Amino acid sequence: MIDFKALANEYKTPLYVYDFDYMTTQYEALKEAFRGRKLIIAYAVKANSNLSVVKHFAKMGSGADCVSIGEVRRAFLAGIPSYKIIFSGVGKTDDEIREAIEKDILYINVESEAELGRVELIAKELGKVSRISIRVNPNIDPQTHPYISTGLHDNKFGVDLSTAKRMYIKANASEHLDPVGIHFHIGSQLTELKPIYESAEIVADLVRSLAGIKIELKFFDIGGGLGIKYDNETTIKPYDYAQAILGCMKGLDLTILCEPGRFLTANSGYFLSKVLYEKQNGEKRFVVVDGAMNDLLRPALYKAYHKIEAITENQGEKRAVDIVGPVCESGDFFAKDYELPELAHNDLVVVHSAGAYGFGMGSNYNTRGRSAEVALENGKARMIRKRESFDDLIALEKEFLES
Ligand SMILES: *Cc1c(COP(=O)(O)O)cnc(C)c1O
Repeated sequence: MIDFKALANEYKTPLYVYDFDYMTTQYEALKEAFRGRKLIIAYAVKANSNLSVVKHFAKMGSGADCVSIGEVRRAFLAGIPSYKIIFSGVGKTDDEIREAIEKDILYINVESEAELGRVELIAKELGKVSRISIRVNPNIDPQTHPYISTGLHDNKFGVDLSTAKRMYIKANASEHLDPVGIHFHIGSQLTELKPIYESAEIVADLVRSLAGIKIELKFFDIGGGLGIKYDNETTIKPYDYAQAILGCMKGLDLTILCEPGRFLTANSGYFLSKVLYEKQNGEKRFVVVDGAMNDLLRPALYKAYHKIEAITENQGEKRAVDIVGPVCESGDFFAKDYELPELAHNDLVVVHSAGAYGFGMGSNYNTRGRSAEVALENGKARMIRKRESFDDLIALEKEFLES
């Protein structure tokens, strides 16, 4: 049991708390599922990019899946070796590509023919060879929220099969490109195995067909996307996931690379807010807390469900309530019609499953400083990011006041 009250007293609210031991458990479970196979787990840094979190994974031997050069720099700072860092994303700039090649990361996940051309040109300018992988869009419906679906031709990600093949042939013929991997990532919060299995089959077939023309790849990158329990979802067991992937890879001796984000961190995280007020607008009951959508955007952005725990002395009857923040938007809520007892000023509201796509999606909207972040490890708490001050918020504007 985590003593949220003590943490809120010591570090104030709003506050993110991450159970590092839980992250370890998840990492080990995934690793165990693929035991005996050549495997790189490349933690998807965007899920929770706090340097101490990335370092925690680095210490366990994790690699990093990055979607900006900023994330690549974070991975290096956290101690992840270059040969375990990959760089994905549909819109890499020339500067980002140049730096990735100079840093000699494992590979760049290329997402279009045009991008392949840029990578080749930049590698040529640098007099280097860039290792690449191509992101295939298998056109499979992942059956998840449309905003986090990425594997359909309707989505901006990756290239279709015939384009991918043409790109491999081009890359293979280039002096400055070394095609080493193949990649797919069809979406996030996946709770069905079938779309993953179907995508892996399609991609494995392409690997075989490339081998037939002497293009031998080394990395089979299965992306991330493993879903977690926010509520009572049935999730994919790591063992079943691994078996499905391995089933598709029969006869292929490639290193598996997987890019979990949410699976590793979501349920390690809690977001703590203090109750400011109870109010009633006609029939409608609200609890206003000091945390807001600028701290945790998922409910506003996806209508995402998060389990809420109220820490209060009050054991009275529960009634439906909307938990809302101070930000001037009607989308600023953590839960709607949630059953909670009457809450008092300074009671705590804990939002569960907040360890992935929480802090990182935060903003300074309404000139609110971002929350502090705290790690729990071996029964001890430590700060891993300070609360932002007003001075932090205005630092880049202040000098222009005079002009
Ligand atoms: C976001 C992302 C991931 C991680 O997704 P999760 O659902 O958090 O596991 C992995 N790979 C790529 C390319 C991504 O964009």
